[in-house]
Amino acid sequence: MGDYGRRPYTYADEIERLSDIYDDVLKTHAELVKAVKNILFKRFKDAGGCDRCGGRGWIVSGDWGDSEYIYDKHVDYHHCDNLKCTPESRNRSGLAPYYSMFDKARGCINPVVESDVFKAIAGPLDESLERTMDVIQELSYQQNNYLSGDDVVILDGEIPPVGTTWKILLYI
Ligand SMILES: [Zn+2]
Repeated sequence: MGDYGRRPYTYADEIERLSDIYDDVLKTHAELVKAVKNILFKRFKDAGGCDRCGGRGWIVSGDWGDSEYIYDKHVDYHHCDNLKCTPESRNRSGLAPYYSMFDKARGCINPVVESDVFKAIAGPLDESLERTMDVIQELSYQQNNYLSGDDVVILDGEIPPVGTTWKILLYI
């Protein structure tokens, strides 16, 4: 946090303060999502979930390496070749807690964010992050859309000195 003794508290200060809070909450959120995935993965394993397809019932052929995109590529989907993997077993296990580009392409639900565990543990922080980001964006908008007659404060530079306030006379 800066030294606000010499100049008025500004939009920039409030945006910085909220951004710091946002970053902290985001870190906590990432930790919680990790914990949620661990719980869901244990649940999946305990219910005999299939390692081969992650409970999807299909697998993708070909070596995709680290590619994050499937646009303009031919993707072959095959039935899962694990003999123990049946519609019944998949019904019991549900989906393993990950969400791949293939899941997305096939219209699969995201088993992490749609889970009861996520909604109970990480979901409320999701909403809080979203609301904080909305406020930050609204403040940024106001900061950049001053009107004739508004006061503005110089935050950087030497001339004019930091802390100088100006009144906007023209709306550009
Ligand atoms: Zn399977």
